[in-house]
Amino acid sequence: MNLTTAKKLNNGVMMPIFGLGVYKSGDETYDAVRAALDAGYRHIDTAALYKNEDAVGAAIKDSKIPREEIFVTTKLWNDDMAAGTQHEAFERSLKLLDMDYVDLYLIHWPVSSALESSWRVLEEIYRAGGARAIGVSNCHMQHLMRVMAAAEIVPAVNQIECHPYLNQKALRTFCNNLSIEVTAWSPLGRGRVLEDAVIESIAARRGKTPAQVVLRWELQENIIVIPKSVHKERIIENADIFDFELTPEEIQSMNELNRNQHFGTNPDNFEDKKDWN
Ligand code: NAD
Repeated sequence: MNLTTAKKLNNGVMMPIFGLGVYKSGDETYDAVRAALDAGYRHIDTAALYKNEDAVGAAIKDSKIPREEIFVTTKLWNDDMAAGTQHEAFERSLKLLDMDYVDLYLIHWPVSSALESSWRVLEEIYRAGGARAIGVSNCHMQHLMRVMAAAEIVPAVNQIECHPYLNQKALRTFCNNLSIEVTAWSPLGRGRVLEDAVIESIAARRGKTPAQVVLRWELQENIIVIPKSVHKERIIENADIFDFELTPEEIQSMNELNRNQHFGTNPDNFEDKKDWN
C-alpha cells in the first residue's frame, strides 16, 4: 500500500484510497491542494457547498500533473436537489473546476423529496461521460434502500462520517455487501479524537502521531480516507502512514473506541439544518 494505491470501484474505475479534503479550506484551498499534490496525493475531495471548486481546479491545472492522474470528487448540493436544478448544478461545478469530467460525483445529502429523481440525473450524467463514477454521501441504510430501489446503476461509493468514535461498522458492512465502497469524512474526527489515551499510547509505541494511527486504522479497515488540512507539514504527516502496520490487537483496541458519536450532522435529521457554512 502507498499513497497512490487505488481501490477498484464496482464499475472498474480505480479510486485512490487516500485523498485531501477541502471543506472549510477557504482561501487556503489553492495552496493546500498544491502542497498535497507535491506530497504525492492524487485524490482531492471538494463539493459545490465548499465554494472552492475553482481553487481546486486551478491548483490541479497549475501542478502540470496530467488530469487523468488525479481523482477529483465533487458533490451535488441539497438546494439544487430540492429545486430540480441538478443538471445545472453539475455544469456549474464542471465550469468552476474547469474540467470536462469529474471522477466521482456524489449526492451530498439524501434530500428526501428528491432522492430518487436526483439519482436518475446522476445516472444520466454518468452515461453522458460527465462523471467516471457516481455515488452518494450521508446515506444510512434506509436512504440506500431507496436509492437502490430506483437505481439502474448501483452507487460506487457512500461517503459517510467515520472515525474511531463513530466507526460505522454495520453501515460499512451493509455497503460492502452491495459492492459500495465507503469513504470516511472527518476521518480524524475533526481532530477531536487525537487526544484519546488508547490512540496516544499506540502512537507513542509506534513512533507515529495519533493522526497517523487513526488514518492507518481506517485504511486497514478497508475505508477510503480524505483527511483535511491546510498546513503543509500536516498534509505531509497525514500521508506518511505507509511504513507501518497495526497489529490485529491494535486494530481491535481501535475498534473498541466506538461510541456512535457524531461530530458532524447526523443524516437522520439533517433536513432541519439551516446554516451549513
Ligand atoms: P477531519 O477529520 O479531516 O479533520 C480535519 C481537522 O483535523 C483539521 O481542520 C485540523 O484541525 C485537524 N488535523 C488535520 N491533520 C492533523 C494532524 N496531522 N494533527 C493534528 N490535527 C490535524 O475533518 P473534515 O474536514 O470534517 O473531513 C475531511 C473531509 O471530508 C472534508 O474536508 C471534506 O472534503 C469531507 N467532508 C464531507 C462531508 C460530507 O457531508 N460528505 C462532511 C464533512 C467533511
